[in-house]
Amino acid sequence: MKLYTVSEFAERLGVSVSTLRAWDKEGRLVALRTPTNKRRYTEEMLYRALGIKNRQEPKKIVLYARVSSAVQKPDLENQLRYLKEFAAGKGLTIDEILSDVGSALNYKRKNFLKLCGMITRGEIKTVIVAHKDRLVRFGFEFLEDLFAKFGCEILVVNKAEDISPIVAYEDLAILRGKAKSKGLSRRVSNWQRNIIKERLEYKNHVYSVTDPGPVNAAYTSQQCPQCGWVDSGNRHGDTFKCRKCGFAAGADHVAALNLKARLFDVEITRYTPYRKVKEILLQRYQQKQAR
Ligand SMILES: [Zn+2]
Repeated sequence: MKLYTVSEFAERLGVSVSTLRAWDKEGRLVALRTPTNKRRYTEEMLYRALGIKNRQEPKKIVLYARVSSAVQKPDLENQLRYLKEFAAGKGLTIDEILSDVGSALNYKRKNFLKLCGMITRGEIKTVIVAHKDRLVRFGFEFLEDLFAKFGCEILVVNKAEDISPIVAYEDLAILRGKAKSKGLSRRVSNWQRNIIKERLEYKNHVYSVTDPGPVNAAYTSQQCPQCGWVDSGNRHGDTFKCRKCGFAAGADHVAALNLKARLFDVEITRYTPYRKVKEILLQRYQQKQAR
């Protein structure tokens, strides 16, 4: 039988060691004692303790944002800006901000797990996300039901499905080149092709139902998705190379990343004049440098 020390138990439960000592003293949760008078706790006591703790109503409001890869970090900043704006507009005070860089298919993202831990300990009242798929690719409704059992509501700001054109790309990248046998590789790549086909059909279907309207495309081919620097000299035909940070990629890919980030942009809307767009982008670049 696993016995927890007082600090291990405190961590599992998400309370401080002094809270446990107080509960022990008050008789609310009396610890076992070793022959040398050290406190020990069992698994069963953990559930009892969760019961004691959860008698308090969940209180916290948490923002959760995610992007799939490091190259999309500007998109992460936009998501957070968008979520903060949304919360402020509803008069909600944010207690904590959590974000991950990782695939929606990966259920071991560090801060996603932290979020689940806080929810199952009954700490969170509301979690705010930009899209359902910021949390998980599959099983959102299951998660929503489960969180509700712990008194936590998920607030999805944008109810429309994520129609970003690079979604299929980001998720498939993790499968590439993993298989050791040729036969398996072939089957995996057939499987990939089928997924891509399926995804595109699905996207086209969704696209016709929930068109988000045009996004302001000003400077999307000149803007660096990594550092944010805007310069016509960043672009050379089909290739993009940032003159400030050296970030390099295909010009179309860069424009797609920038367009995707604009979907969540609250400052740059489709009606923002192009001069103003450049002003905003360069201002953000300066702010980023200052940090
Ligand atoms: Zn750059």
